[in-house]
Amino acid sequence: QDRMKALGKADAEPIRHLHVIGAGVMGGDIAAWAALRGITVTLQDLAPERIAPAIKRAAELYTKRLKLPHLVQAAMDRLIPDVAGHGVAKADIVLEAIVENAEVKRKLFAQIEPRMKEDAILASNTSSIPLQELTSVLKRPERLVGLHFFNPVAQMMLVEIVQGPQTAASVMLAGQAFAKQIDKLPLPCKSAPGFLVNRVLSPYLAEAMLMVDEGIPPETVDAAAKDFGMPMGPIELADMVGLDVGWAVGQELAKPDNPIPQKLKQLVEAKKFGKKTGEGFYKWV
Ligand code: NAD
Repeated sequence: QDRMKALGKADAEPIRHLHVIGAGVMGGDIAAWAALRGITVTLQDLAPERIAPAIKRAAELYTKRLKLPHLVQAAMDRLIPDVAGHGVAKADIVLEAIVENAEVKRKLFAQIEPRMKEDAILASNTSSIPLQELTSVLKRPERLVGLHFFNPVAQMMLVEIVQGPQTAASVMLAGQAFAKQIDKLPLPCKSAPGFLVNRVLSPYLAEAMLMVDEGIPPETVDAAAKDFGMPMGPIELADMVGLDVGWAVGQELAKPDNPIPQKLKQLVEAKKFGKKTGEGFYKWV
């Protein structure tokens, strides 16, 4: 309660401990970034073998950014693997970055909310699920906020701070203060399908994939986008995001008469999810 009140003010207590659930593409990299910025982070995953690669990516990031071995070590010491999830009970923010499925996220919330500190904030990194679809299991829905990071986390400044219908104003402010604390740019927005960025990005990616269905090679589509000034082409980006995640987001956002990109469907069915599995529209190994 105190933290939520205090965080609404300019002299807000900084976040000291972040617990991240889901050590995949996003959770692993958010955890790494927060530890780089001085926060103690515990990192949990249903599949414990996902944690070690995330820690390895963090080590690479720290070596590149911090250079001095003692600083790298200090950052590594702040990033703590937590298979049993002890961090849930200690963290100031518990952030989930698990599979993009409302039912699975609700199940997780029902398990963890009773173990969280009274004044802790519950955050979701969901790309597309409106927060109101996640609150039915919560006793305190006012403390749920969307903290939507972008991929790759170390390079993308923006974090959407998503307000559900029940999110307390103080929790929104706390989310914004946290983003600033870790040197990110908070963009407050209301919880609507796709929030702000994915509402625009998702149709763009879908259209690019439909062009691939029409026989235009991914390389050509991506090169054209780069000619327009995009830092990365849409097909390459989809592979980086993860085609399973892109598929789930598309399901959430597509209008009923939107055509389904067939190549995407085939790749997802073949479990070729892009960079993280070594193959998607492109080969990554
Ligand atoms: P991912 O598949 O790389 O990782 C998900 C991780 O969650 C896996 O390691 C899995 O083992 C774990 N997991 C699944 N269910 C779990 C549970 N019940 N408890 C604990 N761990 C569990 O996925 P990702 O790309 O990191 O996406 C995670 C979330 O972040 C999704 O909600 C997605 O929409 C969102 N997101 C993704 C991107 C992106 O570019 N990939 C960007 C922004 C937001």
